Amino acid sequence: MHELMIAQNILDKVIGERERLGLEAVLGITVKVGALSGVFPDALQFGFDALCRESELDGCRLTIESVPITIRCRHCHAQAPVDDYRFSCEACGSTDVDVETGYELDIAYIEVGDADADPTTQFQQSGMTNGSAH
Ligand SMILES: [Zn+2]
Repeated sequence: MHELMIAQNILDKVIGERERLGLEAVLGITVKVGALSGVFPDALQFGFDALCRESELDGCRLTIESVPITIRCRHCHAQAPVDDYRFSCEACGSTDVDVETGYELDIAYIEVGDADADPTTQFQQSGMTNGSAH
């Protein structure tokens, strides 16, 4: 199950960060999941909950932010959301477009319980599971 591996990856990453930063407790993790990432949010949530209970992060909750697909036209540089997987420019009709968002599969931030720390720690590393997840 694809999502279970990703959930494990998220847990490992956050456990590593927690040790590195000396955090007391991790209360929550927010991940961005793009519509093109191939990940089913429900399955990821389910997998995470199951693994988390068995880990040192027990009690931590996962929040999934869905990221819609947007494209940018290479001709007229218009940016637009994609409906029904139609990858063509709304403005000029060109199909020569770049996908701007939709492939995300990143930890956005983690919420920590340490009184001394900032309540939300921005997770700088992006592309956590990029490459290995596809
Ligand atoms: Zn265009």
